[in-house]
Amino acid sequence: MIAAKHDHPTNAQKFTDNEPRAHWHDQAIWFVRSKRDKAAWTLPEWELLRERASQIKTHMLSNLAGYLEQFEAEATRRGAVVHWAKDAAEHNEIVLSLLQKHGVKKVVKSKSMLTEECHLNPFLERHGLEVVDTDLGEWIVQLLHEPPSHIVMPAIHIKREEVGELFHEHLGTEKGATDPPYLVNAARVELRQKFLGAEAGITGVNFAIAETGGFVVCTNEGNCDLGVSLPKLHIACMGMEKIIPRAADLSVFLRLLARSATGQPITTYSSHFHGPMEGGELHIVIVDNGRSKILGTPEFRRSLHCIRCGACMNTCPVYRRSGGHSYETTVPGPIGSILAPSRDPAQHSTLPYACSLCGSCSDVCPVKIDLHLQLLTWRKQIAALGLLPFDKRWGMWFAGKLFSHPRLYEFMGKVGRKLWPWLPRFMVYNGLNKWGKQRELPPMPKKSFRELYAERQKIAEKSKN
Ligand code: SF4
Repeated sequence: MIAAKHDHPTNAQKFTDNEPRAHWHDQAIWFVRSKRDKAAWTLPEWELLRERASQIKTHMLSNLAGYLEQFEAEATRRGAVVHWAKDAAEHNEIVLSLLQKHGVKKVVKSKSMLTEECHLNPFLERHGLEVVDTDLGEWIVQLLHEPPSHIVMPAIHIKREEVGELFHEHLGTEKGATDPPYLVNAARVELRQKFLGAEAGITGVNFAIAETGGFVVCTNEGNCDLGVSLPKLHIACMGMEKIIPRAADLSVFLRLLARSATGQPITTYSSHFHGPMEGGELHIVIVDNGRSKILGTPEFRRSLHCIRCGACMNTCPVYRRSGGHSYETTVPGPIGSILAPSRDPAQHSTLPYACSLCGSCSDVCPVKIDLHLQLLTWRKQIAALGLLPFDKRWGMWFAGKLFSHPRLYEFMGKVGRKLWPWLPRFMVYNGLNKWGKQRELPPMPKKSFRELYAERQKIAEKSKN
């Protein structure tokens, strides 16, 4: 058996060991989920919008090659240069060569999960460039040398007291300061200098429109606009599934995105880009990095509908209680637990089990991805690939034998009910019994369900006669 490199249960346990933090994290994220519900309920056409978005994405994926080519042609006509990257390494090389060609040393970046996925920051830093993430949450985790723990709220796991300490150390703010306006203002002053000194701006892309060759970046802090308005070089990095066919489709997604993400009617800034600024250059890097493989897998291709709103994370009882870092992937939560095994099932084999199968993620997903069903399908595939740990495989084999032989099942039940109460505790609660690590079995019933059922049938028969 190939050992799972990443171990979600162990990571989750580390997070839950700090009970007050785990509780606070759960509450903070649930607050955002509640805001999402209220925002969704204000729109009577909410379900229609979700259905429409899902249909647009299905259509787009079925015609992806054509729409990508149309986007390239239109974007080029508007003066942008389109690059194609088959994987993260190629993406990083393209970005680096563009920056080096322009003699850039300082870059400001607005939030982009794709550049996180490609590990662009450490790559550029290794080549002597200074990269500053300008989204406040993203900047906080960058200063902490941590990855984001959430795709929309990267520093949701960090308390303001910790931010106060961090800013005291890096920005020289007052020791013990926790006042958000004071801390935000200190960050604003520092980041303003970074914007002024930047020679290039890198952004992500929320939606790229095939019909117009334009694209939209959604932020709440305006950092994207500031980051690409001063330098002459703008590099936009996008996963190839970000394409939508027409400009008219945009309103469907913009109405869904912010409501699903943070409960806002719309993000504070929805910045539209159509070609480079006067005297500047705009480069768009379109990245595959495993997406074609997912597209070719009928069971999982709908995961490419994702618009990265984070709603499935906010509602997930496992994510809320185990924290984003426990997933050890760029995109955590339910959608991350589908995307990561698609890249490397052996490394991420525990993720599809980080799920209670409650289906809440599928209920809130604005583009109607059948998340919990895809997670279930992944479990089947992980088992078929022989990636389950030995105790689970053995347990399933034993249970399969027992359940397929009714007489044996009945016999074992009888013996078990009699014997169980007399067994010494170490024989029941030991390393093999993972279920019993945090739970106690209830007292054994005297009779089995079958016996009780038969007795009731007899009584019913008698009362009829
Ligand atoms: S899977 Fe759906 S709910 Fe989760 S981040 Fe993507 S769009 Fe949002």
